[in-house]
Amino acid sequence: MSAISDVRIYRAVSPLSRPIADATHSLSEISFYVVEAETECGVVGQGYILSFHYSPGAIAGALKDIRSIAAGLAPNETGVLARKAASEHEYFGHEGIQKWALAAVNVAMWDCWGRTLGVPVWKLLGTCVSRVPVYGSGGWLSYSVEELLDEVLGYVKRGFQAVKIKVGGGVEKDLERLRKVREAVGSGVKIMMDANQGMTLQDALLLSRKAEALDIFWFEEPIDHRDYEGYAILRSRSAISLAMGEREYGIEALKALADRRALDLWQPDLIRIGGVEEWLRSAAYAGACHIPVLPHYYKDYDVPLLCTIPNGVGAESFDWIDGIIDNTMRIEDGYAYPRSGAGWGFSFRRDALTPIE
Ligand SMILES: [Mg+2]
Repeated sequence: MSAISDVRIYRAVSPLSRPIADATHSLSEISFYVVEAETECGVVGQGYILSFHYSPGAIAGALKDIRSIAAGLAPNETGVLARKAASEHEYFGHEGIQKWALAAVNVAMWDCWGRTLGVPVWKLLGTCVSRVPVYGSGGWLSYSVEELLDEVLGYVKRGFQAVKIKVGGGVEKDLERLRKVREAVGSGVKIMMDANQGMTLQDALLLSRKAEALDIFWFEEPIDHRDYEGYAILRSRSAISLAMGEREYGIEALKALADRRALDLWQPDLIRIGGVEEWLRSAAYAGACHIPVLPHYYKDYDVPLLCTIPNGVGAESFDWIDGIIDNTMRIEDGYAYPRSGAGWGFSFRRDALTPIE
């Protein structure tokens, strides 16, 4: 089989019309690293990382370092890549930026393998469903109420049946924004809230109880993601479901929260957790614990993967890469459809990529 002969790294930027902020971060640009693996036969697969502006030297360095591990492997040898990386990464640590680099290459290899066979990844892995409910994400704390309503109504107009907004700007202010959103979208649209770990347990509990009347579908990362007991307290004292997972490098938090019956929805981040196999393993563990899966951010990979598992319940939609790829995902009437093309079915446009040497 044709082996990977070249691994290239690029940076890409998606324009942001205005800075945005949640309870823990302010963002002035949306930027990405794209890894491209090419086989001796010229088949090219891509995988990308949502990086923002953080630690550009460190993530580029980690990506450069893993190139030599991937070179010479067949595109389906993602397990060999993981084993070699496990040995190489033990010293500085399996978690952190090295895991992101490993995951980006893993995703590029799956693209490359699908393209080698001429099959979409979601068909390669075995298909459960062929479309996935999707929700409109954003609702940044930095938005004015007008901007917030503009965004959620824009999602509703596009057929979305669920929207998520940020909280953590003060309990009364959060409630006011949630009320305005409920009034604007009506009772037929689901509303979720996300504190990005930015609240104290006391405030999270207060908000959760008061927001019950607004029929909030889930409360995401209300508090520090390592505070498992706090999650257990919140879940026992409020009727609103709890969601988390995007900050996890493995399934330890899932295990801890499942043991405490303190989680309603598992939200793995494909890249942070280490790539396709780790994402699937975590989804299977969640399934064994009767916890549904609705992953974080990467809809262009998550929708195909969700089509292959029995306990997927939806995907998060941002459109940050839509302006710099060649084949945007079809979203209609609140559902996202996996692409029919081989691999992941889309590529970053050449003119959007800046090579990193
Ligand atoms: Mg979140």
